[in-house]
Amino acid sequence: RGSCASDSSDSVISTGSESESQLYKVVLLGEHGVGKSSLARVFGGVDDAGHDCDHRDEAGNTYDRSIVVDEEESSIVLYDIWEQDNSQWLKEQCMRMGDAYIIVYSVTDKSSFEKASELRIQLRRARQSENIPIILVGNKSDLVRSREVSADEGSACAVVFDCKFIETSASLHHNVHDLFEGIVRQIRLRKDSKEE
Ligand code: GDP
Ligand code: MG
Repeated sequence: RGSCASDSSDSVISTGSESESQLYKVVLLGEHGVGKSSLARVFGGVDDAGHDCDHRDEAGNTYDRSIVVDEEESSIVLYDIWEQDNSQWLKEQCMRMGDAYIIVYSVTDKSSFEKASELRIQLRRARQSENIPIILVGNKSDLVRSREVSADEGSACAVVFDCKFIETSASLHHNVHDLFEGIVRQIRLRKDSKEE
């Protein structure tokens, strides 16, 4: 589990020759310390010993890999650049560039949950008329005893903000695969409804 070899069993690693498969830009947002980089590493197949599987760029904050969802292949480029520097330019760039967004908070940190709402509002402002797929993620679900935000609060927030919701544990790799499958499905749904 988590090793390069076992990771390729449920996902096809892009060789760059499958130019026909769709490429989706997914951007991670959320307060410092909520687990964005941890989720990105799990997604990118960086195993617990830190050996990565060539899905990561040199700077270490962009990951690309392709996944098969519902028997169809899609490539995702995952950007973990929200905290790269504090420039307003970068933040605005992040808000503009994504085909989909993952807004992360920690279930052990109420203020990160409140920050997630703010980010959702900012995103809506930046992309007014667009119906961009967003998933609200309550990470660190393994930390049962220090939980400050219930799953009910998370899903109620997602209803208000018209986005999907999932709780994950990057540490236990729990629900991380489901999260990215969900992102791909949502992007496909919105794309299909646009084309009609
Ligand atoms: P970022 O600032 O959002 O990129 O957060 P990081 O990925 O750097 O994680 C911040 C800290 O939280 C690190 O010490 C991680 O090991 C820890 N962490 C991240 N995800 C989880 C999780 O699901 N469970 C637990 N228990 N700790 C986590
Ligand atoms: Mg980080």
